[in-house]
Amino acid sequence: PALHRRPIVAGNWKLNPSTRGEAITLLKLLAANFINHRNDNNNYGLASSTLPEVVIFPPLPYLSDAIQILAGSGIQVGAQTAGPNEKGAYTGEIAPSMLVSSGVSHILLGHSERRTLFGETNEYINMVLRKCLDIPSVKVILCIGESLSEYENGLLETVIDEQLRGCLANVDAKYLLSDRIILAYEPVWAIGTGLTATPSQAQYAHEVIRASLAKYYGSEEVASAVRIQYGGSVTPESMEALMSERDVDGALVGGASLNADSFTRIFDVAV
Ligand code: PGA
Repeated sequence: PALHRRPIVAGNWKLNPSTRGEAITLLKLLAANFINHRNDNNNYGLASSTLPEVVIFPPLPYLSDAIQILAGSGIQVGAQTAGPNEKGAYTGEIAPSMLVSSGVSHILLGHSERRTLFGETNEYINMVLRKCLDIPSVKVILCIGESLSEYENGLLETVIDEQLRGCLANVDAKYLLSDRIILAYEPVWAIGTGLTATPSQAQYAHEVIRASLAKYYGSEEVASAVRIQYGGSVTPESMEALMSERDVDGALVGGASLNADSFTRIFDVAV
């Protein structure tokens, strides 16, 4: 990553693990790893603010356990999705303000599984994003990325541009400049498939994203300020080469985030 962008590593647990007991075990392992880790880094003279930002996204029922167990570890806790409504007769819905007032620091929006399995459109994601931005301080990780057939048909640039324009409609540049919005580039063909994009494929897509942002906002500054994570089958082994790319500012990790040691090793690479 470029030096002016602080790396960010995030773990998306998706619908895992199956029970609260297993979640608590994983959370305790993570807390222990990261507390040791921070002590080690302090010994090297690294201040906490220079370490990569780290956040995990457990399923909703485990959020309060996560917030409690991870307190003091430096790991922040986010929610995997939220809805656009604030309160009222919306059975099953979760409002961004409920999450934030419960201690959540980040909200993940527009994950490809939300788009393909639950029908979320760019327009819908934009509605939720704007609700989130109305709440001071919460950060949004906005996911974008092309499918395999779009990739094979040479549509990467078009799809990215459409997703950005749709999701960021009526969203002021100040939210990108102030780091309230972080982007995650996740090529759908690389998610959960073991097929990581090559570092140069990731770098290229991140350049495309910055170019789209520069055009849309008429500002190179916006394009250069925003942090962009790569996601899709990231492992401790693939992280090193990805992080050596100029426009890759971190990773959004699915499968490998369910193992405390793998996730810690991925973080280590970003330090
Ligand atoms: P994966 O998932 O690392 O298991 O491919 C990434 C994601 O969907 O965020």
